[in-house]
Amino acid sequence: MINGYHDMKVGDQNYKLEVILKNYQAVKKQILNQLKTDSSSIVYQLWNFYLSQDKMCHANCSQCQMISHLSNDIIINEPFMIKTGQTLMLRQTAVRPFLKWTNDQIKGDAVTIKILVTWILEDVLNLPHTINLLTAYICRHNACLLYEVPTINEELCDFERLLEYQYTKDIVYGLLCQIIVLYQALSKQQFSHGRSHINSFLFNKTPCDYTYEYNKKSYHIQCDYTLQLADVSYSSIKYNNHLLFPHHTVVNILCNHFHSQHKQTHTFVVNDIEGIKHTLPLSIDLYLVILSMMENDNFFNTVMENQNCYDLWKNLWQQQEGLVEQRLMNNDKSLTEIKMYVDPYPYLFNYITT
Ligand SMILES: [Zn+2]
Repeated sequence: MINGYHDMKVGDQNYKLEVILKNYQAVKKQILNQLKTDSSSIVYQLWNFYLSQDKMCHANCSQCQMISHLSNDIIINEPFMIKTGQTLMLRQTAVRPFLKWTNDQIKGDAVTIKILVTWILEDVLNLPHTINLLTAYICRHNACLLYEVPTINEELCDFERLLEYQYTKDIVYGLLCQIIVLYQALSKQQFSHGRSHINSFLFNKTPCDYTYEYNKKSYHIQCDYTLQLADVSYSSIKYNNHLLFPHHTVVNILCNHFHSQHKQTHTFVVNDIEGIKHTLPLSIDLYLVILSMMENDNFFNTVMENQNCYDLWKNLWQQQEGLVEQRLMNNDKSLTEIKMYVDPYPYLFNYITT
């Protein structure tokens, strides 16, 4: 068992592939444990103890050494295969790391919070829709995030690309069900996606097939493709009763209380979508992601032509038949004056297969 990567020396015999992967897993687990048992200390320990940070590196910091043992042909931001058959990708972004503990909340830079939120989601969700972030480190002012990425035909596949392959009724219905289940599960974690859009997802040619419990009933989710939430750059989440959030979306916190303000009508109407779309949590995330899917013509037409899909779409909105469709067709993406449910899930789950 290793404690962080800082002690590892060049020439250490920890460089076998299986050992490297096991160590990544172990450190990830230690960080989550630390967050659960003593959240405030993670602020000091994350980059000074658990994860490696080398601002002077000349390809010889502990993590650079380890990464070089994974594969000989790693290109930044491109998928590569390792001997276990997994497809990995190393993403790099400039970073000025900071984490701050105030009033039982953890505030940090966008990358550091993204790393923690990604690991927390994997820990709490227990659904096939999270992405596996193996490790993260800082090397010469760059944050390097090593992901196991979903691929189709060995390439990353986003929503537009997926619909070039196929958009049958079953696939469109399956994708809608996955999105609804995922956001319902996320809402229990007081998760706020922030800038919610289907482009935050990647798709996998592994079919998904599971049952999901909602209001004491089991729902059967099945689809030829599995979607995975890959980008949580603007997200906040509550973990062990502490809210973690990136410093640039402070408003997310205020909006986590949005629900209670609307108890009476169970409805909200947006008057200024530009002003709120980067900040509102809860069901607005679901609305925005489904709207972004409906902007694709193939997806839109399939939903309109198939009863199962259309039922899910129609019951998202309150008695304003055709209005949202009309706006989408006129390329008007505003939600102004359209009535949305604060909690749309009871309506939507009526139309998901049990
Ligand atoms: Zn390095």
